Amino acid sequence: MIEASETTEVPPETDLTTIDGETISDLLKIVEQRNGDVDLIRLAFDYARKAHGLQRRKSGDYYIVHPLAAALHLAKLGMDEQTLAAALLHDVPEDTEYTLSDVQSEFGEEIAFLVEGVTKLGQLKYRGIDRYVENLRRMFVSMAQDARVILIKFADRINNLRTLDALPPEKRRRIALESLEIYAPIANRLGMGEMKGDLEDLSFPFVYPEEYQWMKRKIVPQFEEKIAFLSGFQEWVETEFHERGIDYVSIDGRSKHLYSLYKKLLQNSRDLSKIHDLVALRIIVDSVGKCYETLGVIHEICKPLKGRIKDYIAQPKPNGYQSLHTTVFSPKQFAASDVHGQIVEIQIRTPEMHDEAEYGIAAHWRYKERQVSRDRADYRINWMQQLLDEHPDADDKSQLLETMKIDIFQNFIFVFTPRGDVIELPEDSTPVDFAFRIHTDLGNKCSGVKINDQIGSLNTTLKSGDVVEIFLNPHKTEPSPDWLSFVKTNTARQRIRQSMQKKNKRLFDNQEDS
Ligand code: MN
Repeated sequence: MIEASETTEVPPETDLTTIDGETISDLLKIVEQRNGDVDLIRLAFDYARKAHGLQRRKSGDYYIVHPLAAALHLAKLGMDEQTLAAALLHDVPEDTEYTLSDVQSEFGEEIAFLVEGVTKLGQLKYRGIDRYVENLRRMFVSMAQDARVILIKFADRINNLRTLDALPPEKRRRIALESLEIYAPIANRLGMGEMKGDLEDLSFPFVYPEEYQWMKRKIVPQFEEKIAFLSGFQEWVETEFHERGIDYVSIDGRSKHLYSLYKKLLQNSRDLSKIHDLVALRIIVDSVGKCYETLGVIHEICKPLKGRIKDYIAQPKPNGYQSLHTTVFSPKQFAASDVHGQIVEIQIRTPEMHDEAEYGIAAHWRYKERQVSRDRADYRINWMQQLLDEHPDADDKSQLLETMKIDIFQNFIFVFTPRGDVIELPEDSTPVDFAFRIHTDLGNKCSGVKINDQIGSLNTTLKSGDVVEIFLNPHKTEPSPDWLSFVKTNTARQRIRQSMQKKNKRLFDNQEDS
């Protein structure tokens, strides 16, 4: 350990203000308010401040302001103190004289592990997804061990994106592109809606500058009108609820993130009037029963649009998202014309569903849920672990990339077993993929399928909501090699190949015997 306390200068605390105008006192206040370990956070801050000394970032700020901003972001998400301390220390081993073992002897194994994970993730430069496999692999290994590593990395990246202006153009674009192509899809896959939106919106102007300018010129003004409408509409709904004695936890307006609006515009011939979830009213009530009740009340006071009611409570989205959605016409007093009101989306959910939707995997480490914070049973972690188990060796790179692309960057469908269990599969999956997802034996022995009570063929492309029943041939022990031509999942492909290899080996062995 380096004895730097007497010789190294540290920047004065009064100069250490983040881009949001916040300081270490704001961080300590948040921790104090929840009776957390204020001393630990103070210690980690002082340690990192001493380690970074008078280093400055390209923006001119003292370096320590950057980890401070990342820690503040995570504190607002309600993350535990180990995570906050690790966020404060995350650039210490990489950028200062202090080593990881210095951090470990001062702060213990858990915090050192988190810092190490973040450090490792930052060591490769992004030059397009195809050269990126090794980095993705590292990311998944540390995430599967402890998902807090990726949360710190996200907070680190978001602060970097917010201060990107100070960097040369080439570096700016590289960081923004990596955030858009890698980090945002992973945040989405982990169910972290807010983080995903931030990563995308901050990267957008650097990756697609002209498109971003077009959005600002043509779309944002109309978007802002809609936001103004929403606040009037919200007041009206609150009054209606009050008069009818409907109780709720909260009602909030939300507007779509800019980049996700942009992507939706591309799918809709750039026509804003075709997009119905530009703004939404989010109603939080305290039970599932009340969600359905509230939906009824909404339809009583506002006329719903046909075919826009979605029950993601009974049928959650693949990433775990739950809510009731409906799209309605507001009353005529909010009208753009005198024919009908404005179209607005309503989302109804419980506080638990809300936490899941905003924080996803992070919800498990949120302070108030400390009791369950070590629960590794989260299906999103299982998913990562499964990916790694299927590719134990690092030289299996092209295949790993294939899997990553399928499993992270593709869309998903969800289908049902005859018993009603939900099975998640990548788009364009077939009954054979379904069978292997449930059990290897079911895949090996599968000989036919019924889809929604109709006999189908094994290479049919499944759609969300299909009920899939597999027929078994008990005498069959091996999958058919032909299936390789249409299966979509990695599991199915792998099992079929393995069986073919075994069979070839048996043939070979038998030949040697004779
Ligand atoms: Mn950093």
